[in-house]
Amino acid sequence: MSTLAPVLPLDPETLREDFPILSVRLHGDVPLVYLDNAATTQRPRQVIQSLVDVYEKQYANVHRGIHWLSDQSTDLYEEAREKARAFINARHREEVIFTYGTTEGINLVARSWGGKNVGAGDEILLTEMEHHSNLVPWQQLAQERGAVLRHIPITDDGRLAMDALPALLSRRPKLVAVAAVSNVVGTINPVAEIARQAHAAGALVLVDAAQSVPHLPTDVQALGVDFLAFSGHKMLGPSGVGILYGRRELLDAMPPFLGGGSMIRRVKLDTFEPAELPAKFEAGTPPIVPAIGLGTAIDYLHAIGLERIHEYERMLTIRAHQVLQSVGGVRLLGPAPEHKAGIVSFTLEGIHAHDVAQILDRHGIAARAGHHCAMPLHKRLGTNASVRASFYFYNTLAEVEQLAAALVETKRVFRKA
Ligand code: PMP
Repeated sequence: MSTLAPVLPLDPETLREDFPILSVRLHGDVPLVYLDNAATTQRPRQVIQSLVDVYEKQYANVHRGIHWLSDQSTDLYEEAREKARAFINARHREEVIFTYGTTEGINLVARSWGGKNVGAGDEILLTEMEHHSNLVPWQQLAQERGAVLRHIPITDDGRLAMDALPALLSRRPKLVAVAAVSNVVGTINPVAEIARQAHAAGALVLVDAAQSVPHLPTDVQALGVDFLAFSGHKMLGPSGVGILYGRRELLDAMPPFLGGGSMIRRVKLDTFEPAELPAKFEAGTPPIVPAIGLGTAIDYLHAIGLERIHEYERMLTIRAHQVLQSVGGVRLLGPAPEHKAGIVSFTLEGIHAHDVAQILDRHGIAARAGHHCAMPLHKRLGTNASVRASFYFYNTLAEVEQLAAALVETKRVFRKA
């Protein structure tokens, strides 16, 4: 990271040198063009090295031992918590819970908060553009409790129909759960405004921040949200670790999610007393080394600056819209680039998304095809599947051009077939 000068704009070529995998060549000698960052990002050497360092020099279980090695490991694990706290500007370290990812974070809230606070006839407000991770846990809760799910509709260009919100909130839902950025259409949702209106109507707000925390500055206090979940593997960190942020008063009042070691203060044969936060929600041995690696990833992102990352990705997105529109037969899903993060999903007339992705792969381009864990959103947009190109700061304008060229080639192949 010493190579990073604090000047605009970001230099992808220099940063790419930190990512060994980006020099992989495939199918003979085609360079990899990695455009599947919404699924998971790649890791820089610094993160990989931090994992090796811990395993080689500082690894033991945390919060358990009274030995030196355990102290080392515990210090690093808690430092990572502090880095995550600062990264999202949470007020207190106890508000930062290590999970295995966004999915667990949302399930934790649905089970623990929902289990205690949601009863028959209560409403939970979601949106039509949610990832299955922010639909299914609420469906499970609603089925168990007889609660009612409602959804903020979307416009044809994939934005939340905010004019529908007041009427939905007048039904006094208990919670509004919304993605900050759609993993399909890339829309950046007005989370602060939703939180303001939801709170005025007496609802809590949970944010699925899997696609926003890695790409945009996030300040949970400025957003005014109650819960926010994200995943380490989508922001240069290892898989198997994520963060759930929750306001302390709320987490304090919630029952533990999983039971076991570490989450207790005292256990008798027939009862237990839960531990204080954050241990109360970290049952069992946590993802120690992934959490430490996530801390290193946060350092790396912080050194580049989230504003710079966002600006750069916007530039790639604007260019992607331009070149894809010029291909012919491409239908771009979602709004204009100014409302988007770096996610561009599309269909290509007459060719199934999976076939498109297969031909892209022949050109070394890793893109995703399918419903991207958002079946209801695809249905709303009138398609079963789409192709998704999703960017990170290490992608280049040249790669965007390669994508467009490969799509022209895809059309040619299918015309012949
Ligand atoms: N929500 C959104 C918006 C996502 O994009 C994803 C990952 N595709 C998830 C939730 C789930 O994240 P994870 O699989 O890391 O738990």
